[in-house]
Amino acid sequence: MAEISRAEIEKIVKQVVGALGNTAAAPSAEYSSTEYQGRKLVGIYSDMNDAIAAANEGYKAVRAMSVEKREQIITAIRELTRKEAPIMAEMGVKETGMGKVEHKRLKHLLVADKTPGTEDIVSEAKTGDNGLTLVEMAPFGVVGAITPSTNPSETVICNSMGMIAAGNGVVFNPHPGAICVSNYAVDLVNRASLMAGGPKVLVTSMDKPTLDSAKIMQTHPLIRLLVCTGGPGVVRSVLSSGKKAIGAGAGNPPVIVDDTADIAKAGKDIIDGCTFDNNLPCIAEKEVFAFNNIKDRLISEMLKNGAYLISAAQADALAQVVLVDVTDKKTGKTKKTINRKCVGRDAAVLLDMIGVKVGNDVRCIICETDFNHLFVQEELMMPILPIVGVSDIDEAIDLAVKAEHGNRHTAHMHSKNIDNLSRFAAAVETTIFVKNAPSYAGIGFGGEGHTTFTIAGPTGEGITSARSFTRKRRCVMADSFRII
Ligand code: NAD
Repeated sequence: MAEISRAEIEKIVKQVVGALGNTAAAPSAEYSSTEYQGRKLVGIYSDMNDAIAAANEGYKAVRAMSVEKREQIITAIRELTRKEAPIMAEMGVKETGMGKVEHKRLKHLLVADKTPGTEDIVSEAKTGDNGLTLVEMAPFGVVGAITPSTNPSETVICNSMGMIAAGNGVVFNPHPGAICVSNYAVDLVNRASLMAGGPKVLVTSMDKPTLDSAKIMQTHPLIRLLVCTGGPGVVRSVLSSGKKAIGAGAGNPPVIVDDTADIAKAGKDIIDGCTFDNNLPCIAEKEVFAFNNIKDRLISEMLKNGAYLISAAQADALAQVVLVDVTDKKTGKTKKTINRKCVGRDAAVLLDMIGVKVGNDVRCIICETDFNHLFVQEELMMPILPIVGVSDIDEAIDLAVKAEHGNRHTAHMHSKNIDNLSRFAAAVETTIFVKNAPSYAGIGFGGEGHTTFTIAGPTGEGITSARSFTRKRRCVMADSFRII
């Protein structure tokens, strides 16, 4: 009997998995959670206790290193990330079935270029009649990091750079649905370390992360800080762990467009932001509140920029597909939750699910809805944008704040009225507030400031960077060491 080739096996597995309705790619001959093109990935363990022990060795090595050496490792991470961004972008889309390859490539370049390094760690000195007091930003030790499926390798690399710059070791428990590309990123960090003369294993991860391995991480005595980037469930879990935790949770960013805005620019910016990586970034525009007197003009500008307007009936049909009923085991109550098969999908694929055929030039599905529509209330993470008409700024702010659900994550506004801008910014209390630009300007892409893929609203660190992963220590020299 003729032997079946690896490519044929891969094709059959894909067909079977496809038939089962699983949207993630089948295991690939090219990569797995422990190998890439036959090369064993470094730093990947099958037992969380081993992964933590190895990360602790990494921490000891970083502790013994000069700051200059840490910076050399970070420079090497930047270089490898730039070089291998196309590989991770393609793998991320292939493995998760979500997002856009070109946008993921840009996200990796953003991480390489705009994630702060050791320069973010600064010391303070206070002098006075009683001498000199020094405050330094010290590492925590080994950080346990949980990362999402939406920006998987971007978060692993961005977290690693900040945590290493701060002098920590890191163990990851990545999202199981993005484990191959997340572990590729862990290996990249380790290769960069070796290239720059650091240890072979600096950061670590699991071959098969589970909720149990996350639990071990959350309770292990060597883990001094937990950093969690994900939805409400996992953030709640780490915040109740009893350890110091940084929680970067869900958002549902509203956009207000008032009648002083540059409507052509607003229409373009909103579609550009909303469709970036098919709406996967937690900061991306999720619902629009437009003044009634400019709403039609805004919609027509959106249509010029690749939006496709669906009717109210079509919006309801689409809601039936992209949101599914889930019954809470404890309470027995049923609630709508997003259909994971639709997250990060192309607009054309989503429209096809309700029998509407369009070309790939359609980037975003838009619809007019009322405030209570599920598209407004739920964080969809797909290129679907509901538009709610409002009569004035009071109504706009009231509804936008309610739609943000108190996440205090991100909000956007297009306006030239500084009173309106200031009022919304103050009322919504989000970590990020973007004025007159696409959402991604808020993470340094076309806007000033450093980048991060871990925006810690609930715990207050905000746009995290190396200093977020430090603890302050004070050293006091009483009555001397002043030089004046
Ligand atoms: P998710 O919540 O499904 O998963 C995030 C991570 O948590 C994964 O590693 C997952 O395996 C793990 N996890 C889930 N439940 C857990 C539990 N009970 N205990 C331990 N680990 C658990 O999120 P996702 O779908 O990958 O990402 C999307 C969500 O994350 C969205 O809500 C988005 O807004 C949010 N997000 C926030 C930020 C931010 O910076 N604030 C960044 C990216 C994503």
